[in-house]
Amino acid sequence: APRDDCPLDKVRLGISTWSLLHTMAAFYADNPTDTEKRDMRKFFEVLSRLYPCEYCAKDFRSEIEVNPVNVNSQKDLAMWLCKFHNRVNDKLGKPLFNCSKVNERWRDGWLDGSCD
Ligand code: FAD
Repeated sequence: APRDDCPLDKVRLGISTWSLLHTMAAFYADNPTDTEKRDMRKFFEVLSRLYPCEYCAKDFRSEIEVNPVNVNSQKDLAMWLCKFHNRVNDKLGKPLFNCSKVNERWRDGWLDGSCD
């Protein structure tokens, strides 16, 4: 098992990054201000240039070009990110996530109470 005090490989970096991104989307405003929208768009642009896995970052940049980050509301951002993550899942041969459950997974907890 990987130790917690070693440099991250691309799997652990990926899990940590998705956790941060989905949690940021989960707590993004329902009615964001222009500044919040601009900041979030910039954040993704900058991250896609600096993400420390070169070929992941390259795909990330072309994804954002083809499918611009939807920063219009919490729901829009969470859905956009879920679909983006699913395209990466698909590329890696992983199962796709049901995006109608994205706020249960990352914001509210599962309806069966298993996160309470
Ligand atoms: P992860 O894919 O890391 O997902 C973490 C958790 O998120 C899952 O356990 C699940 O509960 C939840 N989840 C899964 N799908 C969704 C979804 N669609 N919406 C919401 N929640 C979801 N790895 C490569 O090998 N090649 C690449 O090109 C590559 N590109 C990447 C690009 C980015 C921007 C990022 C952040 C990561 C990239 N990775 C890449 C890493 C890869 O996506 C995974 O993070 C890694 O393989 C670990 O996968 P995992 O199955 O443990 O779960």
